[in-house]
Amino acid sequence: MASAAKSPAIAPPKVGQTRLLIDGKWCAARSGKTFGTYNPATEMKIADVAEGDAADIDLAVKAARRAFESGPWPKMDARDRGRLLNRLADLVEQNLEQLAALETLDNGKPIRDSRAADLPLVIDCLRYYAGWADKIGGQTIPVRGNYFCYTRREPVGVAGQIIPWNFPLLMVAWKWGPALAAGCTIVMKPAEQTPLTCLRLGELALEAGFPKGVINIVPGYGPTAGAALVKHPQVDKIAFTGEYKTAQIIMTDAAQTLKRLTFELGGKSPNVIFADADLDAAAVGTEFGLFFNQGQCCCAGSRVFVEEKIHDKFVEKLLKRAKARKVGDPFHPDTTQGPQVDQAQFDKILGYIEKGVESGAACLTGGKRVGKKGFFIEPTIFGGVTDDMPIATDEIFGPVLSLLPFKSVDEVVERANRTSYGLAAAVWTRDVGKAHRIANSVRAGTVWINCYDVFDAGAPFGGFKMSGIGRELGEAGLANYTESKTVTMSLD
Ligand code: NDP
Repeated sequence: MASAAKSPAIAPPKVGQTRLLIDGKWCAARSGKTFGTYNPATEMKIADVAEGDAADIDLAVKAARRAFESGPWPKMDARDRGRLLNRLADLVEQNLEQLAALETLDNGKPIRDSRAADLPLVIDCLRYYAGWADKIGGQTIPVRGNYFCYTRREPVGVAGQIIPWNFPLLMVAWKWGPALAAGCTIVMKPAEQTPLTCLRLGELALEAGFPKGVINIVPGYGPTAGAALVKHPQVDKIAFTGEYKTAQIIMTDAAQTLKRLTFELGGKSPNVIFADADLDAAAVGTEFGLFFNQGQCCCAGSRVFVEEKIHDKFVEKLLKRAKARKVGDPFHPDTTQGPQVDQAQFDKILGYIEKGVESGAACLTGGKRVGKKGFFIEPTIFGGVTDDMPIATDEIFGPVLSLLPFKSVDEVVERANRTSYGLAAAVWTRDVGKAHRIANSVRAGTVWINCYDVFDAGAPFGGFKMSGIGRELGEAGLANYTESKTVTMSLD
């Protein structure tokens, strides 16, 4: 693989806020504890961040409860909530370069992606939901008898939001946008690996003028801070993005208080290339669909089904693209692949590469670490993969792609669906009818036709089966943050 040249890299930003945001104030953890957040490109510590636990969560939840029930927030006109969200989006736009650099520092994603993908999507999402704030209405219902009956959609209350490290800032926008538009208050726990941009967004939210207690941020560990949030009786809803095994724990922990739950979980998404596709476009989309964000995408197209007739021709194009990826310093503007987020993910991915080789698949490119420092892994492609190999069944969450040849439409649909996941799928073909037959038959929350990873704040996203419960984005994403109330009045 090509490696990005040493200069001219962009200078990493200064680290800003590292404390907890509770009730509009920045504070240390009650325990006084901190944890380190590391630069995955250098393995060096960036900063110590306040480590919240159950005591801090309790304070944050109580602040969010107060803000939900009294104070300016519940009295605020919906249109003014929208204006605050728009103001936050403006501040993100004004601070785009700094936020993009901080995201790259903490997460390792290439600066070109932070700037051109993550940040624009964050701004768009906040603006999209700002527009919804004063459009969340109910219905009038024609009931029997002399009654006037209508429904109201009211905010669900205090929302506990737990997010992962792969798109730290974008996950904040996906969670805050609909919650704030609906009138909820928030306690957020960012991922322990990447808390910095969420904290910076907290500063910008205060600057935008969100009242105290509406947005609270408690960095910390999942089993302590995260679990305390899930179990807290004054939290009405948990929105979680991460691994399905964590979702299972959350579901159990939330049972006692019957919280509303939405989950956006992992996947093993099929990406199907037919012989009649534009193979050059399919190779570009397949490379992007798997290697974007170092393969750390819940919807990564990691099972690439290629019609036998064009298998070798397509693979040649794909290999060329994979080998040309520039792996290296994420602050270099030409870099297309940075490091994996941490040692645990790095070890897990290399472990899967080993399993791929042991199970008899052919490593066509990559397979090794890049350099000696930082969690860099070569873009890796396996050929001769069968459906039962661990690299074809498990979510690897890294730059590892499996090629699976197929012969017919029925066969590929059956094999694509042979997974407990159902987040996304893609199909590449010039035959419109075939494309839509596949779109209808694949059990997945999103299907891309002749494209991959096309996201829009207005388009719902989420999983079938063990890839999730509920949808984020779009109007569907708002519904999760509202309760429906039916009001009936006698007209006699
Ligand atoms: P997790 O599901 O463990 O983490 C996601 C978030 O949940 C983090 O904020 C985490 O805290 C928190 N959490 C962990 N345990 C609990 C708990 N008991 N109660 C409440 N919150 C909890 O994912 P990992 O980061 O450990 O990644 C592991 C694997 O998950 C990846 O390899 C990948 O396969 C998958 N994954 C999927 C993602 C997706 O977008 N669907 C995103 C990230 C990972 P903490 O910071 O302490 O871990």
